[in-house]
Amino acid sequence: MLASKRIPVAVPSLNGNEKKYVNECLDSTWISSAGEFIGKFEKSFADFCGVRHAVAINNGTTAIHLALVALGVGEGDEVLIPTLTYIATANAVAYCNAKPVLVDSEPGTMNIDPSKVEASITPRTKAIIVVHLYGHPTDMGPIMDIARRHGLKVIEDAAEAHGAEYLGQRVGGIGDCATFSFFGNKIVTTGEGGMVTTNDPELDAKLRLYRGQGMDPKRRYWFPVVGFNYRMTNIAAAIGLAQMERIDEALETRQRVAKWYDEALAVHADLIERPVIAPYAKHVYWMYTVLLNGVTGEQRDEVMRLMDADGVETRPVFYPMHVLPPYLQDGADFGVANDQAARGVNLPTHAQLEAGDIDRIVASLVAALRSVGR
Ligand SMILES: *Cc1c(COP(=O)(O)O)cnc(C)c1O
Repeated sequence: MLASKRIPVAVPSLNGNEKKYVNECLDSTWISSAGEFIGKFEKSFADFCGVRHAVAINNGTTAIHLALVALGVGEGDEVLIPTLTYIATANAVAYCNAKPVLVDSEPGTMNIDPSKVEASITPRTKAIIVVHLYGHPTDMGPIMDIARRHGLKVIEDAAEAHGAEYLGQRVGGIGDCATFSFFGNKIVTTGEGGMVTTNDPELDAKLRLYRGQGMDPKRRYWFPVVGFNYRMTNIAAAIGLAQMERIDEALETRQRVAKWYDEALAVHADLIERPVIAPYAKHVYWMYTVLLNGVTGEQRDEVMRLMDADGVETRPVFYPMHVLPPYLQDGADFGVANDQAARGVNLPTHAQLEAGDIDRIVASLVAALRSVGR
């Protein structure tokens, strides 16, 4: 237990074969983006998601950019995204000279509200990016139905949702493709890294083409298109393969932490809203996220400051895209997202937490709420 020490919000677990495999890269001198670990990591990740293809990428942001390019999104196109997401989702659309069109979130899950998607579709709309926020899958049934009726592509931004399930199916193979991040604080990490998964062999070929500068796989140094260098290193893939060997344990640990939070927070239901789990969902709790009842955004910030002084690190729910300078929409009516962003707090969620830490975090949260007058 992290007795009176600081409790960080996220900590990677690197105690499997990570070191051994990285040393194999160094000993063999295969440290760049060729080497056996790339293919092994891709295969293991595809199997885990239950998809046919997985393409390793250098991070989760470039994974979304590459997916958009491979799906043909370009200048002047519109792409629907939830306003409540990490900025990488919107930035990847901007990299294509396309326009991110923001959609409000759903009460409860905090994901894109499927009932508000159709009203935002125009003749320029090309794709929808759903984000399985904080590890809770999006309601994919209605999204896929709308996409089919309007001829739109669907990308799952699954950066926060490795192993999450929609009606018993793992995310990654429900949309046309899905993107993952392996940043240091994600459920699976390679330091920096990403993956695109798909069941479509043609899309797989395009992703591989654009990942490697656009070089024709049958003709070396022949480039039919403008591609990118978005390759993952063998060293990162070595860490990723070791992570995948213990993914079941990593997911179970998060379920255990969430259960401790659920139990500890049950008696404070008047003060603190626990995460909502939709009937179709298996939530993987990248971040155990609560909404504080009856507080303003300023009071929520003060609660986080008090907890920080108490040695408990937390994070605010993301600012919605419509309040950030690059994507500002003055006077936009995104009431649900605004409310979630003002009252939401991500609590520490990682494998080193013990039951006693959860009690300390919850006690600290409740004391902070009392201090701001709740
Ligand atoms: C982390 C994250 C990304 C981007 O991943 P990086 O690997 O940091 O580039 C994209 N989308 C969401 C929702 C994320 O949380």
